[in-house]
Amino acid sequence: MPDLASLVTHIAAEMAKAPERGRVADYIPELAKVSPAQFGMVVITADGCEVAAGDADVAFSIQSVSKIFALVEALSRDANAVWARVGREPSGSAFNSIVQLEAEGGRPRNPFINAGAIAVTDLLSAGDDPRAGVGAILRLIRQLAGDDDIAVDGAVAYSEAASGHRNAALAHFMKAHGVIAGPVEATLSSYFHQCAIDMSCRQLARAGRFLMHGGIDPASGEAVVSPERARRINALMLTCGHYDASGEFAFRVGLPAKSGVGGGILAIAPGRASIAVWSPGLSPQGNSLLGTAALEHLAGATGWNVFNP
Ligand code: GLU
Repeated sequence: MPDLASLVTHIAAEMAKAPERGRVADYIPELAKVSPAQFGMVVITADGCEVAAGDADVAFSIQSVSKIFALVEALSRDANAVWARVGREPSGSAFNSIVQLEAEGGRPRNPFINAGAIAVTDLLSAGDDPRAGVGAILRLIRQLAGDDDIAVDGAVAYSEAASGHRNAALAHFMKAHGVIAGPVEATLSSYFHQCAIDMSCRQLARAGRFLMHGGIDPASGEAVVSPERARRINALMLTCGHYDASGEFAFRVGLPAKSGVGGGILAIAPGRASIAVWSPGLSPQGNSLLGTAALEHLAGATGWNVFNP
């Protein structure tokens, strides 16, 4: 394997000068202000070595990457309740698809599409102050990243709340089918705030370490989830983490990963590395264009791929 630090520096340099950078999400007006010129990458290996390049310490909106941590929190409270509400199948549809939800009686395909994530978030806040759900996710993330400064960007949350009509449609539809228990407005508020958590690549790669270590957080030595649950979350990330581009991502990169429309991706090479990349320009399916290219390059050069013998 090439020297990891040189490899990551090389990838970041290539990405910095890439002419085609994708389109920054503009359906959330606050995200449209982010410059597509940025690229950051952090790789933390199983032995604790941390390699960073580019805009590794610039905070960005993690958006749907938060769905991993919301799922971990909800599973640890009541796994049966989670799987009673959402499935475990790739959707093959857009992240905010309404038509599939209607065709399937209001039961979201998986916890990583918007409908599924809203249903999971509802479990965390049902019957409670919606801030309690976001607070629990934020506490988990801060603990895993070892950084109490991680916070919600209120302007992004407000911006999405003001423009999130598709998510409101999904939530109301699920409410009509009994999949959402709490008041729709409170659940949506909780979801928008969790998506608006700001993190850097360094913080995100640190927060993902437990998924490369079979559920153990190497900082504390404690189990965040069981080995079986860590495997299953990785399986869901591989099959559902990139919406209707999940198959393409598995084909090109071959690692469990979750993307967000802020341009971040958290990828896990089980037993080997936790990797965070960020570049705000997106593919038409809403996944970071250069983040995916960088992961493809890294996985190819290191041989990190869950399908390698
Ligand atoms: N907050 C975003 C939305 O609901 C999350 C989507 C994403 O990051 O893929 O539209």
